[in-house]
Amino acid sequence: MKIIFLGAPGAGKGTQAEIVSERLSIPTISTGVIIREALAAGTEMGLAAKKFIDEGALVPDDVVIGIIRERLSLDDCANGFILDGFPRTVPQAEALDKMGITLDRVISIEVSDEEIVKRMSGRRVCQKCGSSYHVESKPSKDGVHCDRCQSELTIRKDDDPKVVLNRLSVYHSTTEPLKDFYAEKGILKLVEGQDTVEQTTALTMAALGV
Ligand code: AMP
Repeated sequence: MKIIFLGAPGAGKGTQAEIVSERLSIPTISTGVIIREALAAGTEMGLAAKKFIDEGALVPDDVVIGIIRERLSLDDCANGFILDGFPRTVPQAEALDKMGITLDRVISIEVSDEEIVKRMSGRRVCQKCGSSYHVESKPSKDGVHCDRCQSELTIRKDDDPKVVLNRLSVYHSTTEPLKDFYAEKGILKLVEGQDTVEQTTALTMAALGV
């Protein structure tokens, strides 16, 4: 299956993508994780992306389209994949079409802005493997280290409340129009984000028809 997760930053795309990825045995490709890894490694692309990420702005389309084109050409994507955080603009969605990719489902996780701001303050991420946690709704086993790779958890700089407001505004103006783009193709399903991860997963699996 080829699936896209849409939704505001902090809506739970990454968390749901990780779970669905394991259940369906297909990889999750997150442009945010790839860019943060490049930044941590100090690559040219990572350093160029830094100023956009720090401001809560989008990295230019040609950069992220290049990342996705390269990643989707790898063997592990042959049986399907989940895209988390891509596309985020109409030109990015059109670029996917031009790559000849036929998507099965686009899931948009719907969460109010008020709830998003509340959630972001408790988010913790593993800088090494990209896993995400939340101090209340999805704590790691010891609250400090990643369950998957045992690295120390950190707070993303762009989860600062001021940056979050900018990211939300970018989401509404630039990414949300993608819902119409995919609704017209007949593959969009809306999933209301629930109070628990498990409840949202149940609705997501139902929306995927698996
Ligand atoms: P995320 O982890 O998905 O919230 O992404 C973190 C940041 O990486 C975003 O705020 C953007 O600056 C950048 N980014 C990730 N994916 C994209 C994308 N598809 N297009 C543009 N910028 C992106």
